[in-house]
Amino acid sequence: MTDSQPDVVVIGAGPAGLTAGLNLVRARRRVLMVDTNRPRHAPTLHSHGTLGLDGIPPLELRRLGREQFLAYDGAEHLTGRVTSVGARLEVSIEGLRGAADRTVRPRAVLVATGLSEQLPAVADLRAYYGTALHSCIECDAFEKTGKSVALIGSSDDLAERAREIAHWSPDLVVFTNGAEVVSADEEARLAARGITVEREPVVAIEGERATMTGVRLASGRVVAREAGFVVPTWVPQVGFLAGTDASRDASDRLIVDAGFRTSARGVYAAGDVISREPMQIAVAAGEGAVVARTIHRDLLDD
Ligand SMILES: Cc1cc2nc3c(=O)[nH]c(=O)nc-3n(C[C@H](O)[C@H](O)[C@H](O)COP(=O)(O)OP(=O)(O)OC[C@H]3O[C@@H](n4cnc5c(N)ncnc54)[C@H](O)[C@@H]3O)c2cc1C
Repeated sequence: MTDSQPDVVVIGAGPAGLTAGLNLVRARRRVLMVDTNRPRHAPTLHSHGTLGLDGIPPLELRRLGREQFLAYDGAEHLTGRVTSVGARLEVSIEGLRGAADRTVRPRAVLVATGLSEQLPAVADLRAYYGTALHSCIECDAFEKTGKSVALIGSSDDLAERAREIAHWSPDLVVFTNGAEVVSADEEARLAARGITVEREPVVAIEGERATMTGVRLASGRVVAREAGFVVPTWVPQVGFLAGTDASRDASDRLIVDAGFRTSARGVYAAGDVISREPMQIAVAAGEGAVVARTIHRDLLDD
């Protein structure tokens, strides 16, 4: 499928993009899937909570998805970065890893580029991220059951997250990292459940080799902890849509209708890049199936 134009360009080969791509090639659509190959959950060893695939390494899940997509006529995968989507659906692609740059003009564009994460600026946090430290409570709290756990963040919903995590791990300390985000009332309610709040800035994660042992505070005090959760800042990957009128919410995530259409004609979105919770593989993949049906049907009328 290199000479003719694709029907659909899918931007992002995560669970949303791969599921949409698979359903679209099965609907006999020509699909060009473009991916920078920077999966968000790459730091983790096992992903959980996906039917039939519980515990699968995330990179293995991608490899399988890509292989199944490429088994169909009309499927093409390109390692590249989409740099712009023009008002008339002109898609500019910067080729990566030796691939040539390309410009294509499909009939529909699916944005499935997910989010990037900015972790709190704490020394050695990244070394434990994906093993001892996680961000997705639904995905990883089960494995922390009964452990001494930290929750590090400065988001307004920190106390709510703490109550949720305590269901699995009652031995919980909340670190506000110097931010005024847990009110005195909330602190009292947490204390009633045995959860303490540390308000000092966090400077480092302590550990011995791969094993996390504690959280070091600005005063030098170390609070012993075996594992934990952090609240990153999530940044949607949508800069290439600047030339369209696709609407976004206050945190820049794309707003879609029930069929996953954005407000820009011919531009669809699914997966973590859209405005909704929770951020999980099964949710993103389900949206991929729904948006594929929407695109297929819309192209029948086009
Ligand atoms: C550490 C960690 C652990 C997790 N563990 C679990 C778990 O156990 N279970 C679970 O259900 N969920 C888990 N998640 C959440 C899960 O990874 C996401 O919900 C899911 O990957 C979202 O899928 P997506 O298709 O929307 O986006 P992504 O999987 O993020 O895929 C987006 C893709 O788009 C590409 N891309 C971005 N910009 C461009 C561009 N301009 N051009 C081309 N390509 C681009 C990226 O390289 C990426 O490959 C975890 C997340 C993290 C961070």
